[in-house]
Amino acid sequence: MTAGNKTNPAIMWFRQDLRLHDNPALVSAVETGKPLLCIYILDEVSPHVRPMGSAQKWWLHHSLMSLMKDLNQLGSELILFRGPAVEVVESIRESTGADAIFWNRRYGAGEQAVDARIKANFVGEAISRAGMLMHEPSAVRTGSGGPYKVFTPFWKAFRSGPPPRQPLPAPSKILPFTAAAESDALADWDLLPTQPDWSGGLAEAWQPGEVGAAQNLKRFSAEFADRYDTERDLPGPDRTSRLSPHLRFGEISPHQIWHTIAPRGIDAVSAARETYLKELVWREFAYHLLQEWPNLHEENFNAKYDVFPWDTNEAFLKAWQRGETGYPIVDAGMRQLWQTGWMHNRVRMIVGSFLVKHLLLDWRAGEAWFWDTLVDGDPASNSSQWQWVAGTGADAAPYFRIFNPIMQAEKFDPHGTYIKRYVPELKDLPAKYLGAPWDAPLGDLRAAGIKLGETYPLPIVEHKAAREKALAALNTMKERQAV
Ligand code: FAD
Repeated sequence: MTAGNKTNPAIMWFRQDLRLHDNPALVSAVETGKPLLCIYILDEVSPHVRPMGSAQKWWLHHSLMSLMKDLNQLGSELILFRGPAVEVVESIRESTGADAIFWNRRYGAGEQAVDARIKANFVGEAISRAGMLMHEPSAVRTGSGGPYKVFTPFWKAFRSGPPPRQPLPAPSKILPFTAAAESDALADWDLLPTQPDWSGGLAEAWQPGEVGAAQNLKRFSAEFADRYDTERDLPGPDRTSRLSPHLRFGEISPHQIWHTIAPRGIDAVSAARETYLKELVWREFAYHLLQEWPNLHEENFNAKYDVFPWDTNEAFLKAWQRGETGYPIVDAGMRQLWQTGWMHNRVRMIVGSFLVKHLLLDWRAGEAWFWDTLVDGDPASNSSQWQWVAGTGADAAPYFRIFNPIMQAEKFDPHGTYIKRYVPELKDLPAKYLGAPWDAPLGDLRAAGIKLGETYPLPIVEHKAAREKALAALNTMKERQAV
Protein backbone atom coordinates (compact mmCIF):
# COMPACT_ATOMS: atom_id res chain seq x y z
CA MET A 1 0.00 0.00 0.00
CA THR A 2 1.50 3.37 -0.96
CA ALA A 3 -0.99 5.81 0.59
CA GLY A 4 1.06 8.98 0.92
CA ASN A 5 3.57 10.13 3.45
CA LYS A 6 4.13 8.03 6.61
CA THR A 7 3.87 10.98 8.98
CA ASN A 8 0.51 12.19 7.71
CA PRO A 9 -2.37 10.31 9.27
CA ALA A 10 -4.79 8.04 7.46
CA ILE A 11 -8.49 7.95 8.29
CA MET A 12 -10.17 4.62 9.03
CA TRP A 13 -13.88 5.27 8.61
CA PHE A 14 -16.02 2.67 10.43
CA ARG A 15 -19.58 2.42 9.09
CA GLN A 16 -21.47 -0.88 8.92
CA ASP A 17 -18.36 -2.77 10.02
CA LEU A 18 -18.06 -2.10 13.74
CA ARG A 19 -15.45 -4.78 14.33
CA LEU A 20 -11.71 -5.35 14.47
CA HIS A 21 -11.65 -8.94 13.16
CA ASP A 22 -11.99 -9.57 9.46
CA ASN A 23 -12.11 -5.90 8.63
CA PRO A 24 -10.38 -5.51 5.23
CA ALA A 25 -10.35 -1.70 5.29
CA LEU A 26 -8.80 -1.66 8.75
CA VAL A 27 -6.15 -4.19 7.70
CA SER A 28 -5.25 -2.07 4.67
CA ALA A 29 -5.15 1.11 6.76
CA VAL A 30 -2.85 -0.48 9.37
CA GLU A 31 -0.59 -1.83 6.63
CA THR A 32 0.26 1.72 5.51
CA GLY A 33 2.25 2.15 8.72
CA LYS A 34 0.67 5.60 9.13
CA PRO A 35 -0.89 6.89 12.33
CA LEU A 36 -4.59 6.16 12.17
CA LEU A 37 -7.53 8.36 12.92
CA CYS A 38 -10.44 5.98 13.55
CA ILE A 39 -13.76 7.72 13.02
CA TYR A 40 -17.52 7.12 12.96
CA ILE A 41 -19.91 9.64 11.39
CA LEU A 42 -23.60 9.76 12.29
CA ASP A 43 -25.06 11.04 9.04
CA GLU A 44 -28.82 11.51 9.12
CA VAL A 45 -28.94 14.32 6.59
CA SER A 46 -27.30 13.27 3.33
CA PRO A 47 -29.87 12.80 0.55
CA HIS A 48 -31.40 9.32 0.33
CA VAL A 49 -29.56 8.04 3.39
CA ARG A 50 -32.36 6.57 5.51
CA PRO A 51 -32.01 7.49 9.19
CA MET A 52 -31.87 4.51 11.53
CA GLY A 53 -34.97 3.42 13.41
CA SER A 54 -35.19 3.79 17.20
CA ALA A 55 -34.15 0.22 18.05
CA GLN A 56 -31.18 0.40 15.68
CA LYS A 57 -30.09 3.62 17.39
CA TRP A 58 -30.15 1.86 20.73
CA TRP A 59 -27.97 -0.86 19.24
CA LEU A 60 -25.62 1.63 17.61
CA HIS A 61 -24.98 3.36 20.93
CA HIS A 62 -23.91 0.13 22.59
CA SER A 63 -22.01 -1.13 19.58
CA LEU A 64 -19.96 2.07 19.41
CA MET A 65 -19.21 1.79 23.13
CA SER A 66 -17.97 -1.72 22.52
CA LEU A 67 -15.82 -0.69 19.54
CA MET A 68 -14.34 2.19 21.54
CA LYS A 69 -13.30 -0.23 24.26
CA ASP A 70 -11.77 -2.65 21.77
CA LEU A 71 -9.88 0.13 19.98
CA ASN A 72 -8.57 1.44 23.32
CA GLN A 73 -7.06 -1.96 23.98
CA LEU A 74 -5.06 -1.64 20.76
CA GLY A 75 -3.84 1.82 21.72
CA SER A 76 -6.30 3.71 19.54
CA GLU A 77 -9.58 5.53 19.99
CA LEU A 78 -12.77 6.19 18.07
CA ILE A 79 -13.58 9.80 17.21
CA LEU A 80 -17.25 10.60 16.71
CA PHE A 81 -18.67 13.14 14.27
CA ARG A 82 -22.20 14.05 13.27
CA GLY A 83 -23.36 15.63 10.03
CA PRO A 84 -23.26 15.24 6.26
CA ALA A 85 -20.41 12.78 5.68
CA VAL A 86 -19.01 14.54 2.60
CA GLU A 87 -18.46 17.74 4.56
CA VAL A 88 -17.33 16.04 7.74
CA VAL A 89 -14.64 14.04 5.93
CA GLU A 90 -13.38 17.13 4.14
CA SER A 91 -13.14 19.09 7.35
CA ILE A 92 -11.26 16.24 9.10
CA ARG A 93 -8.86 16.06 6.17
CA GLU A 94 -8.20 19.79 6.35
CA SER A 95 -7.71 19.90 10.09
CA THR A 96 -5.51 16.80 10.41
CA GLY A 97 -3.59 16.69 7.13
CA ALA A 98 -4.82 13.14 6.51
CA ASP A 99 -3.84 12.04 3.01
CA ALA A 100 -5.59 8.66 2.85
CA ILE A 101 -9.00 7.34 3.86
CA PHE A 102 -10.13 3.71 4.10
CA TRP A 103 -13.59 2.20 4.32
CA ASN A 104 -15.54 -0.96 3.58
CA ARG A 105 -18.17 -0.61 0.87
CA ARG A 106 -21.91 -0.05 1.44
CA TYR A 107 -24.70 -0.75 -1.01
CA GLY A 108 -27.57 1.70 -0.43
CA ALA A 109 -27.94 4.24 -3.25
CA GLY A 110 -27.68 7.26 -0.93
CA GLU A 111 -24.63 5.84 0.83
CA GLN A 112 -22.96 4.98 -2.46
CA ALA A 113 -23.55 8.51 -3.74
CA VAL A 114 -21.83 9.90 -0.63
CA ASP A 115 -18.89 7.53 -1.08
CA ALA A 116 -18.55 8.36 -4.77
CA ARG A 117 -18.41 12.08 -3.99
CA ILE A 118 -15.75 11.58 -1.35
CA LYS A 119 -13.74 9.35 -3.66
CA ALA A 120 -13.89 11.94 -6.43
CA ASN A 121 -12.93 14.89 -4.22
CA PHE A 122 -10.58 13.56 -1.57
CA VAL A 123 -7.12 15.06 -1.87
CA GLY A 124 -5.11 11.90 -1.33
CA GLU A 125 -6.11 8.27 -1.61
CA ALA A 126 -9.67 7.07 -0.90
CA ILE A 127 -9.54 3.29 -0.72
CA SER A 128 -12.59 1.07 -0.46
CA ARG A 129 -12.60 -2.62 0.40
CA ALA A 130 -15.27 -5.31 0.29
CA GLY A 131 -16.12 -6.36 3.84
CA MET A 132 -19.87 -6.64 4.18
CA LEU A 133 -20.83 -9.36 1.72
CA MET A 134 -19.20 -12.63 0.74
CA HIS A 135 -19.36 -11.65 -2.92
CA GLU A 136 -19.98 -8.24 -4.41
CA PRO A 137 -23.61 -7.91 -5.60
CA SER A 138 -22.41 -7.41 -9.15
CA ALA A 139 -20.17 -10.52 -9.05
CA VAL A 140 -23.05 -13.03 -9.19
CA ARG A 141 -24.69 -12.80 -12.61
CA THR A 142 -27.05 -14.79 -14.79
CA GLY A 143 -25.78 -16.47 -17.96
CA SER A 144 -26.74 -13.37 -19.93
CA GLY A 145 -24.88 -11.09 -17.50
CA GLY A 146 -27.92 -9.61 -15.75
CA PRO A 147 -29.02 -9.66 -12.11
CA TYR A 148 -30.94 -12.58 -10.64
CA LYS A 149 -34.56 -12.01 -9.65
CA VAL A 150 -35.18 -15.49 -8.28
CA PHE A 151 -33.34 -16.91 -5.28
CA THR A 152 -32.81 -20.57 -6.26
CA PRO A 153 -30.66 -19.92 -9.35
CA PHE A 154 -28.83 -17.19 -7.40
CA TRP A 155 -28.07 -19.75 -4.69
CA LYS A 156 -26.93 -22.32 -7.25
CA ALA A 157 -24.59 -19.81 -8.87
CA PHE A 158 -23.32 -18.71 -5.47
CA ARG A 159 -22.78 -22.27 -4.27
CA SER A 160 -20.91 -23.38 -7.37
CA GLY A 161 -18.80 -20.21 -7.47
CA PRO A 162 -15.57 -19.53 -5.57
CA PRO A 163 -15.89 -19.99 -1.78
CA PRO A 164 -15.89 -16.84 0.35
CA ARG A 165 -12.36 -15.75 1.25
CA GLN A 166 -10.93 -16.70 4.65
CA PRO A 167 -11.45 -14.16 7.46
CA LEU A 168 -8.59 -11.79 8.27
CA PRO A 169 -7.10 -11.49 11.76
CA ALA A 170 -7.61 -8.37 13.87
CA PRO A 171 -4.60 -6.04 14.00
CA SER A 172 -2.48 -6.54 17.11
CA LYS A 173 -1.75 -2.84 17.44
CA ILE A 174 -2.90 0.41 15.89
CA LEU A 175 -0.59 3.40 15.67
CA PRO A 176 -2.78 6.23 16.92
CA PHE A 177 -2.85 9.74 15.52
CA THR A 178 -2.30 11.70 18.70
CA ALA A 179 -3.25 15.20 17.56
CA ALA A 180 -6.69 13.79 16.86
CA ALA A 181 -9.70 15.96 16.16
CA GLU A 182 -12.17 16.50 18.99
CA SER A 183 -14.84 13.86 19.34
CA ASP A 184 -18.55 14.37 19.96
CA ALA A 185 -19.73 12.83 23.21
CA LEU A 186 -21.73 9.69 22.40
CA ALA A 187 -24.30 10.62 25.06
CA ASP A 188 -25.01 13.88 23.21
CA TRP A 189 -26.30 11.94 20.22
CA ASP A 190 -29.37 10.89 22.21
CA LEU A 191 -29.45 7.44 20.67
CA LEU A 192 -30.95 5.88 23.79
CA PRO A 193 -34.65 6.22 24.56
CA THR A 194 -35.49 8.25 27.66
CA GLN A 195 -39.14 9.29 27.59
CA PRO A 196 -40.02 6.54 28.22
CA ASP A 197 -37.02 4.22 28.34
CA TRP A 198 -38.41 1.15 26.57
CA SER A 199 -35.06 -0.55 26.14
CA GLY A 200 -34.97 -2.82 29.22
CA GLY A 201 -36.06 -5.88 27.24
CA LEU A 202 -33.49 -5.18 24.53
CA ALA A 203 -30.69 -4.98 27.10
CA GLU A 204 -31.81 -8.31 28.58
CA ALA A 205 -31.90 -10.01 25.19
CA TRP A 206 -28.71 -8.74 23.57
CA GLN A 207 -25.05 -7.96 23.97
CA PRO A 208 -24.19 -5.58 21.13
CA GLY A 209 -20.56 -5.65 19.97
CA GLU A 210 -18.01 -8.02 18.60
CA VAL A 211 -17.80 -10.18 21.73
CA GLY A 212 -21.57 -10.74 21.81
CA ALA A 213 -21.55 -11.64 18.12
CA ALA A 214 -18.73 -14.16 18.54
CA GLN A 215 -20.51 -15.75 21.50
CA ASN A 216 -23.75 -16.21 19.55
CA LEU A 217 -21.88 -17.78 16.66
CA LYS A 218 -19.88 -20.12 18.88
CA ARG A 219 -22.96 -21.29 20.75
CA PHE A 220 -25.04 -21.76 17.63
CA SER A 221 -22.33 -23.68 15.81
CA ALA A 222 -21.67 -25.97 18.77
CA GLU A 223 -25.25 -26.59 19.91
CA PHE A 224 -27.84 -25.93 17.23
CA ALA A 225 -26.33 -25.78 13.74
CA ASP A 226 -26.69 -29.49 13.10
CA ARG A 227 -30.42 -29.32 13.90
CA TYR A 228 -31.10 -26.06 12.10
CA ASP A 229 -33.16 -27.58 9.29
CA THR A 230 -35.66 -29.18 11.68
CA GLU A 231 -35.72 -26.52 14.40
CA ARG A 232 -35.37 -23.19 12.61
CA ASP A 233 -39.12 -22.80 12.12
CA LEU A 234 -39.99 -23.25 15.81
CA PRO A 235 -40.18 -19.93 17.64
CA GLY A 236 -40.67 -21.62 21.05
CA PRO A 237 -37.23 -23.21 21.45
CA ASP A 238 -35.69 -20.25 19.55
CA ARG A 239 -32.68 -22.05 18.12
CA THR A 240 -31.62 -19.85 15.24
CA SER A 241 -28.26 -18.09 15.42
CA ARG A 242 -29.55 -14.63 16.47
CA LEU A 243 -26.76 -13.06 14.47
CA SER A 244 -28.88 -10.66 12.40
CA PRO A 245 -28.31 -7.45 14.40
CA HIS A 246 -24.62 -8.26 14.71
CA LEU A 247 -24.47 -8.65 10.93
CA ARG A 248 -26.51 -5.49 10.45
CA PHE A 249 -23.87 -3.45 12.29
CA GLY A 250 -20.97 -5.47 10.95
CA GLU A 251 -19.86 -6.74 14.34
CA ILE A 252 -19.23 -10.01 12.59
CA SER A 253 -18.68 -10.71 8.90
CA PRO A 254 -20.52 -13.33 6.85
CA HIS A 255 -17.09 -14.78 6.02
CA GLN A 256 -16.44 -15.49 9.71
CA ILE A 257 -19.84 -17.16 9.99
CA TRP A 258 -19.44 -19.17 6.80
CA HIS A 259 -16.03 -20.59 7.76
CA THR A 260 -17.08 -21.36 11.35
CA ILE A 261 -20.15 -23.25 10.16
CA ALA A 262 -18.28 -24.97 7.31
CA PRO A 263 -14.61 -25.14 8.33
CA ARG A 264 -13.83 -27.71 5.64
CA GLY A 265 -16.03 -26.18 2.96
CA ILE A 266 -19.69 -26.44 2.10
CA ASP A 267 -19.35 -29.86 0.48
CA ALA A 268 -18.25 -31.32 3.81
CA VAL A 269 -21.15 -30.08 5.98
CA SER A 270 -24.40 -31.67 7.17
CA ALA A 271 -27.64 -30.87 5.36
CA ALA A 272 -28.66 -28.79 8.37
CA ARG A 273 -25.55 -26.64 8.14
CA GLU A 274 -26.00 -26.23 4.41
CA THR A 275 -29.57 -25.01 5.04
CA TYR A 276 -28.11 -22.42 7.39
CA LEU A 277 -25.54 -21.24 4.85
CA LYS A 278 -28.33 -20.92 2.33
CA GLU A 279 -30.17 -18.56 4.69
CA LEU A 280 -27.02 -16.49 4.97
CA VAL A 281 -27.04 -16.25 1.19
CA TRP A 282 -30.61 -14.83 1.34
CA ARG A 283 -28.93 -11.81 2.87
CA GLU A 284 -26.55 -11.62 -0.09
CA PHE A 285 -29.51 -11.97 -2.46
CA ALA A 286 -31.27 -9.06 -0.71
CA TYR A 287 -28.23 -6.85 -1.33
CA HIS A 288 -28.04 -8.09 -4.90
CA LEU A 289 -31.62 -6.83 -5.35
CA LEU A 290 -30.98 -3.56 -3.52
CA GLN A 291 -28.02 -2.81 -5.74
CA GLU A 292 -30.18 -3.14 -8.85
CA TRP A 293 -33.42 -1.75 -7.41
CA PRO A 294 -32.41 0.95 -4.92
CA ASN A 295 -35.97 1.99 -4.06
CA LEU A 296 -36.90 -1.41 -2.69
CA HIS A 297 -38.42 -0.01 0.53
CA GLU A 298 -40.63 2.47 -1.31
CA GLU A 299 -41.62 0.99 -4.64
CA ASN A 300 -43.31 -2.28 -5.52
CA PHE A 301 -40.74 -4.44 -7.22
CA ASN A 302 -43.61 -5.74 -9.29
CA ALA A 303 -45.32 -2.61 -10.65
CA LYS A 304 -48.57 -4.55 -11.17
CA TYR A 305 -49.26 -3.93 -7.47
CA ASP A 306 -49.19 -0.16 -7.91
CA VAL A 307 -52.96 -0.31 -8.40
CA PHE A 308 -53.67 -2.69 -5.50
CA PRO A 309 -56.59 -1.34 -3.41
CA TRP A 310 -54.85 -1.14 -0.02
CA ASP A 311 -57.00 -0.20 2.95
CA THR A 312 -56.08 2.62 5.36
CA ASN A 313 -57.48 1.57 8.71
CA GLU A 314 -55.54 3.27 11.53
CA ALA A 315 -57.26 1.19 14.21
CA PHE A 316 -56.17 -2.04 12.51
CA LEU A 317 -52.60 -0.79 12.16
CA LYS A 318 -52.46 0.17 15.85
CA ALA A 319 -53.90 -3.19 16.94
CA TRP A 320 -51.28 -4.97 14.83
CA GLN A 321 -48.42 -2.82 16.15
CA ARG A 322 -49.47 -3.34 19.75
CA GLY A 323 -50.07 -7.07 19.46
CA GLU A 324 -53.80 -6.78 20.07
CA THR A 325 -55.30 -8.44 17.01
CA GLY A 326 -56.89 -11.32 18.91
CA TYR A 327 -54.77 -13.86 16.96
CA PRO A 328 -52.32 -15.13 19.59
CA ILE A 329 -49.45 -16.05 17.25
CA VAL A 330 -49.60 -12.61 15.60
CA ASP A 331 -49.82 -10.85 18.96
CA ALA A 332 -46.96 -12.90 20.41
CA GLY A 333 -44.73 -11.91 17.47
CA MET A 334 -45.56 -8.24 17.65
CA ARG A 335 -44.96 -8.20 21.39
CA GLN A 336 -41.66 -10.06 21.02
CA LEU A 337 -40.64 -7.35 18.56
CA TRP A 338 -41.62 -4.55 20.92
CA GLN A 339 -39.99 -6.13 23.96
CA THR A 340 -36.76 -7.44 22.46
CA GLY A 341 -36.27 -5.58 19.15
CA TRP A 342 -36.30 -8.87 17.24
CA MET A 343 -38.79 -11.46 16.00
CA HIS A 344 -38.37 -15.06 14.96
CA ASN A 345 -38.33 -15.46 11.15
CA ARG A 346 -41.36 -17.78 10.93
CA VAL A 347 -43.39 -15.29 12.96
CA ARG A 348 -42.18 -12.36 10.83
CA MET A 349 -43.76 -14.16 7.89
CA ILE A 350 -47.00 -14.77 9.81
CA VAL A 351 -47.42 -11.20 11.09
CA GLY A 352 -46.40 -9.79 7.69
CA SER A 353 -48.94 -11.90 5.88
CA PHE A 354 -51.59 -10.95 8.44
CA LEU A 355 -50.98 -7.24 7.90
CA VAL A 356 -51.13 -7.27 4.12
CA LYS A 357 -53.68 -10.04 3.55
CA HIS A 358 -55.98 -10.14 6.59
CA LEU A 359 -55.93 -6.42 7.26
CA LEU A 360 -55.29 -5.34 3.66
CA LEU A 361 -52.79 -2.74 4.83
CA ASP A 362 -49.95 -1.61 2.57
CA TRP A 363 -46.72 -3.56 3.18
CA ARG A 364 -44.88 -0.26 3.44
CA ALA A 365 -46.63 0.42 6.77
CA GLY A 366 -45.30 -2.90 8.08
CA GLU A 367 -41.84 -2.29 6.68
CA ALA A 368 -41.70 1.12 8.37
CA TRP A 369 -42.80 -0.31 11.73
CA PHE A 370 -40.20 -3.08 11.51
CA TRP A 371 -37.59 -0.51 10.48
CA ASP A 372 -38.30 1.49 13.63
CA THR A 373 -38.55 -1.41 16.07
CA LEU A 374 -36.10 -4.09 14.84
CA VAL A 375 -32.53 -4.05 16.10
CA ASP A 376 -31.59 -5.85 12.88
CA GLY A 377 -33.57 -3.44 10.60
CA ASP A 378 -31.64 -3.90 7.40
CA PRO A 379 -32.04 -1.78 4.25
CA ALA A 380 -31.88 -4.79 1.96
CA SER A 381 -33.40 -7.67 3.95
CA ASN A 382 -36.30 -5.76 5.50
CA SER A 383 -37.64 -4.29 2.28
CA SER A 384 -37.04 -7.38 0.14
CA GLN A 385 -38.62 -9.66 2.73
CA TRP A 386 -41.66 -7.42 3.14
CA GLN A 387 -42.11 -7.45 -0.61
CA TRP A 388 -41.70 -11.23 -0.54
CA VAL A 389 -44.47 -11.53 2.06
CA ALA A 390 -46.74 -9.08 0.26
CA GLY A 391 -46.40 -10.83 -3.08
CA THR A 392 -45.09 -7.64 -4.67
CA GLY A 393 -41.42 -8.63 -4.68
CA ALA A 394 -38.87 -10.52 -6.71
CA ASP A 395 -39.40 -14.25 -6.21
CA ALA A 396 -42.32 -13.48 -3.88
CA ALA A 397 -44.88 -15.69 -2.18
CA PRO A 398 -47.92 -15.24 -4.48
CA TYR A 399 -50.52 -12.90 -3.01
CA PHE A 400 -53.26 -15.51 -3.20
CA ARG A 401 -51.30 -17.82 -0.86
CA ILE A 402 -52.65 -16.58 2.44
CA PHE A 403 -51.18 -17.86 5.71
CA ASN A 404 -53.79 -19.16 8.11
CA PRO A 405 -52.64 -17.76 11.49
CA ILE A 406 -54.57 -20.44 13.38
CA MET A 407 -52.93 -23.33 11.57
CA GLN A 408 -49.52 -21.65 11.66
CA ALA A 409 -49.78 -21.43 15.46
CA GLU A 410 -50.83 -25.07 15.74
CA LYS A 411 -48.06 -26.27 13.47
CA PHE A 412 -45.11 -24.18 14.59
CA ASP A 413 -45.95 -23.54 18.25
CA PRO A 414 -47.76 -26.79 19.08
CA HIS A 415 -47.20 -26.54 22.84
CA GLY A 416 -47.90 -22.83 22.93
CA THR A 417 -44.46 -22.15 24.45
CA TYR A 418 -43.93 -19.05 22.36
CA ILE A 419 -47.45 -17.69 22.68
CA LYS A 420 -47.50 -18.15 26.44
CA ARG A 421 -44.14 -16.38 26.76
CA TYR A 422 -45.30 -13.23 25.01
CA VAL A 423 -49.05 -13.28 25.64
CA PRO A 424 -49.05 -14.18 29.34
CA GLU A 425 -52.79 -13.48 29.73
CA LEU A 426 -53.33 -16.78 27.82
CA LYS A 427 -50.77 -18.80 29.79
CA ASP A 428 -53.32 -21.00 31.58
CA LEU A 429 -55.30 -21.92 28.46
CA PRO A 430 -54.67 -25.48 27.14
CA ALA A 431 -52.28 -25.32 24.16
CA LYS A 432 -54.85 -26.81 21.78
CA TYR A 433 -56.93 -23.61 22.02
CA LEU A 434 -54.08 -21.15 21.57
CA GLY A 435 -54.46 -20.92 17.80
CA ALA A 436 -58.07 -19.76 18.14
CA PRO A 437 -59.01 -18.99 21.77
CA TRP A 438 -62.53 -17.90 20.71
CA ASP A 439 -63.25 -21.55 19.93
CA ALA A 440 -62.30 -22.70 23.43
CA PRO A 441 -65.19 -23.92 25.64
CA LEU A 442 -66.36 -21.25 28.07
CA GLY A 443 -65.36 -23.44 31.00
CA ASP A 444 -61.75 -23.61 29.83
CA LEU A 445 -61.64 -19.87 29.27
CA ARG A 446 -63.07 -19.23 32.71
CA ALA A 447 -60.65 -21.66 34.35
CA ALA A 448 -57.78 -19.83 32.63
CA GLY A 449 -59.05 -16.46 33.88
CA ILE A 450 -59.77 -15.24 30.35
CA LYS A 451 -62.66 -13.01 29.34
CA LEU A 452 -62.42 -12.51 25.60
CA GLY A 453 -62.91 -8.89 24.67
CA GLU A 454 -61.75 -7.87 28.16
CA THR A 455 -58.60 -9.67 29.28
CA TYR A 456 -57.61 -10.57 25.71
CA PRO A 457 -59.06 -9.12 22.47
CA LEU A 458 -61.59 -10.84 20.27
CA PRO A 459 -60.20 -11.28 16.74
CA ILE A 460 -60.30 -7.96 14.86
CA VAL A 461 -61.17 -9.75 11.62
CA GLU A 462 -62.63 -13.18 10.94
CA HIS A 463 -60.16 -15.39 9.09
CA LYS A 464 -62.41 -16.72 6.31
CA ALA A 465 -64.06 -13.38 5.61
CA ALA A 466 -60.69 -11.61 5.59
CA ARG A 467 -59.31 -14.20 3.20
CA GLU A 468 -62.20 -13.68 0.78
CA LYS A 469 -61.81 -9.91 1.00
CA ALA A 470 -58.11 -10.23 0.17
CA LEU A 471 -58.83 -12.38 -2.86
CA ALA A 472 -61.48 -9.88 -3.98
CA ALA A 473 -58.92 -7.08 -3.64
CA LEU A 474 -56.55 -9.07 -5.83
CA ASN A 475 -59.29 -9.31 -8.47
CA THR A 476 -59.92 -5.57 -8.23
CA MET A 477 -56.23 -5.01 -8.91
CA LYS A 478 -56.42 -7.26 -11.97
CA GLU A 479 -59.52 -5.42 -13.24
CA ARG A 480 -57.78 -2.07 -12.77
CA GLN A 481 -54.86 -3.34 -14.78
CA ALA A 482 -57.10 -4.51 -17.56
CA VAL A 483 -58.57 -0.99 -17.98
P1 FAD B 1 -30.83 -17.37 11.24
O1 FAD B 1 -31.96 -18.24 10.91
O2 FAD B 1 -29.87 -17.86 12.23
O3 FAD B 1 -30.10 -17.01 9.87
C1 FAD B 1 -28.74 -16.55 9.82
C2 FAD B 1 -28.63 -15.28 9.05
O4 FAD B 1 -29.06 -15.46 7.71
C3 FAD B 1 -29.48 -14.15 9.58
O5 FAD B 1 -28.86 -13.49 10.65
C4 FAD B 1 -29.64 -13.27 8.36
O6 FAD B 1 -28.53 -12.44 8.16
C5 FAD B 1 -29.70 -14.27 7.24
N1 FAD B 1 -31.09 -14.57 6.90
C6 FAD B 1 -31.87 -15.56 7.38
N2 FAD B 1 -33.07 -15.54 6.79
C7 FAD B 1 -33.07 -14.49 5.95
C8 FAD B 1 -34.03 -13.94 5.06
N3 FAD B 1 -35.24 -14.49 4.90
N4 FAD B 1 -33.70 -12.86 4.34
C9 FAD B 1 -32.47 -12.30 4.46
N5 FAD B 1 -31.51 -12.78 5.28
C10 FAD B 1 -31.82 -13.86 6.02
N6 FAD B 1 -33.49 -9.91 8.40
C11 FAD B 1 -32.65 -8.92 8.75
O7 FAD B 1 -31.47 -9.18 8.99
N7 FAD B 1 -33.08 -7.63 8.83
C12 FAD B 1 -34.37 -7.28 8.60
O8 FAD B 1 -34.71 -6.10 8.67
C13 FAD B 1 -35.29 -8.32 8.26
N8 FAD B 1 -36.60 -8.03 8.06
C14 FAD B 1 -37.47 -9.06 7.73
C15 FAD B 1 -38.81 -8.75 7.50
C16 FAD B 1 -39.71 -9.76 7.18
C17 FAD B 1 -41.17 -9.42 6.89
C18 FAD B 1 -39.26 -11.09 7.10
C19 FAD B 1 -40.22 -12.20 6.76
C20 FAD B 1 -37.93 -11.40 7.32
C21 FAD B 1 -37.02 -10.40 7.64
N9 FAD B 1 -35.65 -10.68 7.87
C22 FAD B 1 -34.79 -9.66 8.18
C23 FAD B 1 -35.11 -12.03 7.63
C24 FAD B 1 -35.06 -12.96 8.85
O9 FAD B 1 -36.29 -12.96 9.51
C25 FAD B 1 -33.97 -12.59 9.84
O10 FAD B 1 -32.74 -12.43 9.18
C26 FAD B 1 -33.78 -13.69 10.90
O11 FAD B 1 -34.98 -13.92 11.58
C27 FAD B 1 -32.70 -13.27 11.86
O12 FAD B 1 -32.55 -14.19 12.89
P2 FAD B 1 -31.26 -15.10 12.99
O13 FAD B 1 -30.04 -14.26 12.90
O14 FAD B 1 -31.41 -15.95 14.20
O15 FAD B 1 -31.42 -15.95 11.67
